[in-house]
Amino acid sequence: MLLVLLTACGPLDRSPQRVNIRGTVFGTYYSITYYEDEGTVFHDAVDSLFQDFNRSLSIYDKESLLSRINRNEETKADQYFEMVFTRAQEISRETGGAFDATVLPLVNAWGFGFSERADMTAEKVDSLLQFVGYEKVWLEDGHLVKEDDRVQLDFNAIAKGYAADVVGSWLESKGVITYLVEIGGDLVARGVKPDGSKWRIGLEVPAGEMDAAQEWTYFVEIRDSGLATSGDYRRYYEKDGRRYSHTIDPETGHPVDHQLMSASVFAPDGISADAYATAFMVMGLEGSIEFVEKRNDLEAYLIFAAPDDTETYGYYASTGLELLSREDL
Ligand code: AMP
Ligand code: MG
Repeated sequence: MLLVLLTACGPLDRSPQRVNIRGTVFGTYYSITYYEDEGTVFHDAVDSLFQDFNRSLSIYDKESLLSRINRNEETKADQYFEMVFTRAQEISRETGGAFDATVLPLVNAWGFGFSERADMTAEKVDSLLQFVGYEKVWLEDGHLVKEDDRVQLDFNAIAKGYAADVVGSWLESKGVITYLVEIGGDLVARGVKPDGSKWRIGLEVPAGEMDAAQEWTYFVEIRDSGLATSGDYRRYYEKDGRRYSHTIDPETGHPVDHQLMSASVFAPDGISADAYATAFMVMGLEGSIEFVEKRNDLEAYLIFAAPDDTETYGYYASTGLELLSREDL
């Protein structure tokens, strides 16, 4: 034992080197930081992982597996599809359907997907709701079965977090144990840095205007956690003085419209954090607080607008979450 310790701390030992890789994926940026003995840069490998991922799960790539499944040209799932679908279905059940990957027809009709916004009458919403619902689709021997062939899936609410996990697992297969993989604000962090410190993350406060500069007010220090944020303050459109969120309530078929402005969720992995964050936007402030406080594996940071006033914000941090201010650092 003593020998091992002496070798590990000996003068010849070099501490792992910090590597940062950046690029774009899924219409947003990514930033990956890790510590590796030789400082090996895995840029090409990461980009090709993302490419595989898109070929499987992108709704924007017309030839992706997901697009073909949505057009009923294919039923056989690949490993990405199977994993993301299975987790999506579990979280749909847990959240009483607040998270629901079958919302795609509604997402498209409301103008947040890949097609033009439709004229959204109550009849139109009702007709689309007939084939929205996670119970209408399941896997059987690796094949996707639909109760109604108009059912279409959208993994945008879970894919960024899952992709971060996929990259993280790939890095682990290369012997990397300390990393932060971030895709458009959603991330997974593992391990502690060589100096023993955790990963420090800034939590953004929503701005009143979509293009307002980012500001950081609080920080958290994490290891071995996923973190994802959903919010309608950066992605929405206005019509007749109303803001339309890109999160759809699968029960009503309408974009959510309530005080909750953004939900940041900490979960054991990226895929879960991403899905719960979206679900929380559907559940609203009170529903999310009730949900998160019952769960030992989740923490949340919620920002809400004062009723009838979208310029004044409050926040809620779940009981186990330790927020640090600039002075604490
Ligand atoms: P996120 O930013 O992770 O909350 O994902 C938002 C995206 O997920 C939207 O742009 C839609 O494509 C999709 N989406 C909207 N509402 C839901 C929902 N209730 N459940 C699952 N996905 C949704
Ligand atoms: Mg999400």
